[in-house]
Amino acid sequence: MPDMCPKCGLPKDICVCDILDRETLKKIHVFTEKKKFRKFVTVVEGLSGDELERTSKELKRILAVGGTSKNGVIELQGGNKDGVRKALISLGYSNESIDVT
Ligand SMILES: [Zn+2]
Repeated sequence: MPDMCPKCGLPKDICVCDILDRETLKKIHVFTEKKKFRKFVTVVEGLSGDELERTSKELKRILAVGGTSKNGVIELQGGNKDGVRKALISLGYSNESIDVT
């Protein structure tokens, strides 16, 4: 008797729920926020763990800006949403998974 998925009722071997979950999770939200002294930051939400760290590092390198990453949020200096979107795509994220507002 194979393991059955509690979600779709199919054997775990052919179930795609985990994959779907992962795809759903990988929705990246990019927006700008105004900080003190009229400084802007670009916020990237939707990543976690190692991926958050790695992506943060790569974005800072590609865009040559400073930034921080914590609690699932990357904050990059400057209001460069379009640059961040392009950089994310160059890192392998699909355009559809990136939500820029
Ligand atoms: Zn399933």
